[in-house]
Amino acid sequence: MAKKMVYFFGGGKADGKADMKELLGGKGANLAEMSKLGVPVPPGFTITTEVCTHYMKNNGKYPKDLQKEVNSALSKVEKIMGQTFGSPQNPLLFSVRSGARVSMPGMMETVLNIGLSSKTIPGLIQKSGNERFVYDAYRRLIMMYSDVVMEKSSGIEVPEGKGIRHQLEREMQKMKDTKGVENDTDLDAEDLKKLVYIFKKKVKQILKKDFPDEPNEQLWGAISAVFQSWNGKRAKAYRAIEGISDDWGTAVNVQTMVFGNMGSDSATGVAFTRDPATGENIFYGEFLVDAQGEDVVAGLRTPQAINNESKTESSKKLPTLEELMPENYKQLVKIRNKLEKHYHDMQDLEFTIQEGNLFMLQTRVGKRNGAAAVRMAVEMKKEKVISETEAILRVKPEQMDELLHPMLDPKSEKKATLLAKGLPAGPGGGVGQIVFSADDAEAWAKKGEKVILVRDETSPEDVHGMRAAQAILTAKGGMTSHAALVARGWGKCCIVGCGALNIDFRKKTLSVDKTTLKEGDWISLNGTIGSVYLDKISLMPADPDKNEYYKTLMSYADKARKLGVRTNADNPKDSKQARDFGAEGIGLTRTEHMFFGPDRIKAMRQMILAEDEAGRKTALKKLLPFQRKDFEGIFKAMDGLPVTIRTLDPPLHEFLPNDDAAQKEMAKQMGISVKDVKSKVQSLHEMNPMLGHRGCRLGITYPEITAMQAQAIMEAACKVAKAGVKVFPEIMIPLIGTVKELENQKKVVQEMAEQVMEKAGIRVKYMVGTMIEIPRAALTADQVAEQAEFFSFGTNDLTQMTFGYSRDDAGVFLPEYVEKKILPNDPFQSLDQTGVGQLVAMGVEKGRSTRKDLKVGICGEHGGEPSSIDFCHRVGMNYVSCSPFRVPIARLAAAHAALKNK
Ligand code: ADP
Ligand code: MG
Ligand code: MG
Repeated sequence: MAKKMVYFFGGGKADGKADMKELLGGKGANLAEMSKLGVPVPPGFTITTEVCTHYMKNNGKYPKDLQKEVNSALSKVEKIMGQTFGSPQNPLLFSVRSGARVSMPGMMETVLNIGLSSKTIPGLIQKSGNERFVYDAYRRLIMMYSDVVMEKSSGIEVPEGKGIRHQLEREMQKMKDTKGVENDTDLDAEDLKKLVYIFKKKVKQILKKDFPDEPNEQLWGAISAVFQSWNGKRAKAYRAIEGISDDWGTAVNVQTMVFGNMGSDSATGVAFTRDPATGENIFYGEFLVDAQGEDVVAGLRTPQAINNESKTESSKKLPTLEELMPENYKQLVKIRNKLEKHYHDMQDLEFTIQEGNLFMLQTRVGKRNGAAAVRMAVEMKKEKVISETEAILRVKPEQMDELLHPMLDPKSEKKATLLAKGLPAGPGGGVGQIVFSADDAEAWAKKGEKVILVRDETSPEDVHGMRAAQAILTAKGGMTSHAALVARGWGKCCIVGCGALNIDFRKKTLSVDKTTLKEGDWISLNGTIGSVYLDKISLMPADPDKNEYYKTLMSYADKARKLGVRTNADNPKDSKQARDFGAEGIGLTRTEHMFFGPDRIKAMRQMILAEDEAGRKTALKKLLPFQRKDFEGIFKAMDGLPVTIRTLDPPLHEFLPNDDAAQKEMAKQMGISVKDVKSKVQSLHEMNPMLGHRGCRLGITYPEITAMQAQAIMEAACKVAKAGVKVFPEIMIPLIGTVKELENQKKVVQEMAEQVMEKAGIRVKYMVGTMIEIPRAALTADQVAEQAEFFSFGTNDLTQMTFGYSRDDAGVFLPEYVEKKILPNDPFQSLDQTGVGQLVAMGVEKGRSTRKDLKVGICGEHGGEPSSIDFCHRVGMNYVSCSPFRVPIARLAAAHAALKNK
């Protein structure tokens, strides 16, 4: 390894700079950048991430010349500081800090006060004239070092609460209790001296090793521990969730200590250049007097606000930094302005004041919630800090989600009692009374109650109750379970896979450990993070239409994007909702959803039970007016915009009841014997229903179904057209594998359409097109396009059939596939661009080779997922279609796609 391994920073200079994050980690790169900017940063050096990967690959061995490079950087620091590491007279102390390419808050380790030993302690006491400070620093060193270096990095596994750090904390608490004091700062030098003695004994007793008294041993111990913390349990788990590569490694920053714990003119704090909760352009921060860095985050003492704007309920009576240390505050404000201007983005800062001198310890792009991200982007554009393009790219499409759902009031949520945790399947907050069945949910909701439907898992038969509920909570199932998919589609709060729940459906109780809740008890869900709380927490409503920042950002996005954005909606209410969110039409109406209502299912079942065509036609006649009315509503809601309606898709058995009780009920309703019902259900049973008698195959064997649906669509269209509504029906035939299938169904539709328009005495422009969801359709898209006036890629089925995974059964193995990296992610969530994507790209190209102006869209779940939307842009689709609540996400994602692929 001939490359440079150690990068120095300090004294207004630095070897590195901000864009070297891969090598120096975010923290190191920004420490270098700040040094260069002339911001006061304690000098130090960064050991690169390459050393980390070398260390990992070579079983904890360092590259040959590392020691030399470290020593030379160390002397540079000593020179600037006029102090020497390990010197008894004038000792220099270091912090050893982790810092990966992207920030992994709290996941890796940092050790402060490295270099304190029996040799250096007297010198530091003499120099500082502050014995208490020195022993406070020393007890902190012992706490952090024994935890991070001696315990964690040596791989010792201890049960929760039994670690060395907890044990030392308990000793400290004992001492405070004996003294009858509350705060750490109430312990004096003598107390701390005693405590240090107790600590060392405890360390020896528990870890069977002496606390190292050699500064150099401490330094290298800490460096190795930080490298190893990259492979710590927490860090690994965090990387898995955030999709961060295990190969990046962390850098190590060795930096001169500055002390916020030297008395009342010293302090430490964190600040954001803008309010990360609201996005407002105010300086926002907290600090503690006479403290070291970790105290602010640890919540041991109540932090004070840096200024009046930052005051909270708990800090409102405490003096601010502006009041206590006005000069330092002014200086901090200047640095805030400088850094924000330099980085063009909101920064998250760490600072320490040592005896009236301000030092900056960190700056990085600050994390923010969705609402704040939008406001900052728009305001920074208006302040000319960033361009319109940057403003659009600043906000992650997924973040729009947060603006569209009511949320639990964060302040009340903090105080609430957590009952259990599950998977965050549907975002936002949900508050309601527990019910245990879909029917109860519906019944209670009708009475005006707010309910949360709690089930082991849900099935399509629960949909009415899921709809009626404020939120859905299931004990089983993953992110692709039925409950999760349905809730996501509706934008409803939902938590799934909450394994701690014990549901007794018959007794109508729900218990977690010793807590038992019964029907009617209140709970609150935060579906964005998967937390279930006891009792009622207040909700904050979402109303994006009142949010000027949101509207402005969306107007930027709409200007930038090339893709149209439509919605998948099956009823007028969802259509209107989607239109309010900016949908430019409907990309998919699933007509079968209209057959499930209580008044319709009977006619549907009659149709299925009919022995012959005549019997089916009689039943279909009953369904016709229902469908027509639904379509009228949708056309009106989408006045002026295209509406794609798919003819019947699922296998017929989905409309028949499966359990005994329901079959009896049905027999009674239909006036036939239970035996007949059972035998019909039996006869419709298929080995592979998803590959069976469904989609256009139904329409080909029972053309009267397609005819009835075409009639309903065209009659509705003619009727509203007469009333002045602009309609553009696009009739879509599902599950085509060969052009002949489409030709057959198109003929049925066209004949009916002509008949209806003739009778109505009005002509309506309509189209007949098809879903491309069977691989063969994509492979022969040139032929299919000769018949199809438009394509819509049904990527759910296309993924299912290309991989050969049944989507309904994939939950058993898919999560493990992703975990074992056999698949990069769930292909039902984000489109598999390498495989399925080839079929899509080929389908578009071949289709347009025979029909130049072929309109192409996508209507699978992927139509609302940003990386898939980027793909749709690249293959030249005309639009994406997604569920109503994902429309704003898709608009922004489409803009990102256009800007990134310029
Ligand atoms: P994290 O990545 O978890 O934020 P840091 O490396 O930033 O860890 O360190 C944690 C805390 O330790 C910081 O908040 C900072 O206040 C304090 N700290 C780190 N280095 C120094 C230093 N050289 N002097 C004083 N305090 C420091
Ligand atoms: Mg930090
Ligand atoms: Mg399908």
